[in-house]
Amino acid sequence: MIRTARQMLTCHWTARRLQRYLDADPAAPLSAGEVARLEEHLAACERCAEAISQHRTLARALGGWGRRTPVQPASVERMRSVLDDLVREGRR
Ligand SMILES: [Zn+2]
Repeated sequence: MIRTARQMLTCHWTARRLQRYLDADPAAPLSAGEVARLEEHLAACERCAEAISQHRTLARALGGWGRRTPVQPASVERMRSVLDDLVREGRR
């Protein structure tokens, strides 16, 4: 029970930082502790690992070094809804 609640909170926490983690935005860097916590969660949580792998595929395609895999609007939509679900669940 406690573990489930904690995991949901962490999914929410993770989803909110995923973009910054992947972009490594110098204007809003994650602390080393945040990165460690995020990676620990990704290793344990299938849904967040799936979200991040979709996000990476998308980022690669958008970045141009994945030109063989053109971005489909549907995959952008799917990515958004995965993140939205994670964020929404954390709020419950
Ligand atoms: Zn998660």
